[in-house]
Amino acid sequence: MKLPLPAHEDLIVRRQADQLGIYVHFPYCIHKCSYCDFYSAGMDRMPGGGKTVPVSDLESFAAQAQLEYQSRRDQFKKFGRVNSIFFGGGTASLLPAEYVDRLLELFRSDFDTEGAEITVEGNPENFSPTYIESLARIGVNRIHVGVQSLHEHTLRDLDRYYDRDRYSALIETLAHSRIGNRGVDLMYGVPNQTEGQFMADLRLLLSTGLTHVSLYSLTAEPGTPYEAAVRKKKAPSPDEDLQAKLFQELPEFLSHEGFIHYEVSNFARPGFLCRHNLRYWLYEPTLAIGPGAHGFDGSLRYANPRNVIAWQNSPATSPMTMHDPSLEIPLCILRILVPIAREDLESLFAPLDRGEQGMMLLQKWANQGLADFTGHFQWKSGAVLFLDDRIMEMQEVLSPA
Ligand code: SF4
Repeated sequence: MKLPLPAHEDLIVRRQADQLGIYVHFPYCIHKCSYCDFYSAGMDRMPGGGKTVPVSDLESFAAQAQLEYQSRRDQFKKFGRVNSIFFGGGTASLLPAEYVDRLLELFRSDFDTEGAEITVEGNPENFSPTYIESLARIGVNRIHVGVQSLHEHTLRDLDRYYDRDRYSALIETLAHSRIGNRGVDLMYGVPNQTEGQFMADLRLLLSTGLTHVSLYSLTAEPGTPYEAAVRKKKAPSPDEDLQAKLFQELPEFLSHEGFIHYEVSNFARPGFLCRHNLRYWLYEPTLAIGPGAHGFDGSLRYANPRNVIAWQNSPATSPMTMHDPSLEIPLCILRILVPIAREDLESLFAPLDRGEQGMMLLQKWANQGLADFTGHFQWKSGAVLFLDDRIMEMQEVLSPA
């Protein structure tokens, strides 16, 4: 259904830095995809593993997650209210609803979570109508499915686990989902994938009434088996020509479908911008638990070990460390494509040594016609094409070498 987009002022995003987000990193996947650089362990290579996670691993994950949460929560109690809880990974949809519920109850006993966005992210093979129903019953109000492609040959080229029955049932499942707020990830520029195939997948998924779409171009990330194979010419590179074409064309296509392009790779229907995503880009605090998870209390950060065993042996022991906000803030906020309130930018820049120069650079870009900067800052359309250069320019102004 094509809807008129809301008025400009209705799109302004505001920082909610006095509220907290909670992130749970569930570290298991059925199979470790060769292009993936997130921390996760493939069950198919683990003793006792298969297409599900053994109960002993689920129990041990839940127990350690609880321990980590309880060790860290006091540091975050000052926030009082939680506006987003996100179960990601890995494949968080491999976590049965009873374990999700156990953790949610724990969070609810310490924080006000009324009205919070509660997401479970995962893969098509787990999102059955029964699983969605059980998530809805415990208060999960958003699901996000890593579809990547509906074409078997593309999934195989991506080295993804593929369950033909569940993929075939996905469209029906999404269209009749008990949880109305639902998004998907799709990937483009995969070798041997045509533009027609990608667009057919996107159109079919949109027909199920999605509220959110994340579109990523395949990249050969350093350190992944796929990158090594490309380097040794044993696997084809991503199709960069098609990626460049779609990168330019997709925003207009999705705008006609009623979606707001609110971050480089993310599109949402009005009212469905993902709060969890915005927390990162608006530089807001997050209590993160699980192996490989990164937390931020508003000034200090911690990064958990990217190893299940190391994390289980001593959860919550990774130290809080200082970081340079002059480098991080540009990386976060300049990716946002909807208007950001001026006072939020002022409050972010004010504590920085060269914050005033940062505000002047925003104004300079506006004077050059790259952005609007009146009551709010917003890139003009087409800005995504030069964003990396502008982020670097801002980092150099805020933190000159
Ligand atoms: S399923 Fe997702 S998180 Fe797991 S290995 Fe594949 S891309 Fe990475």
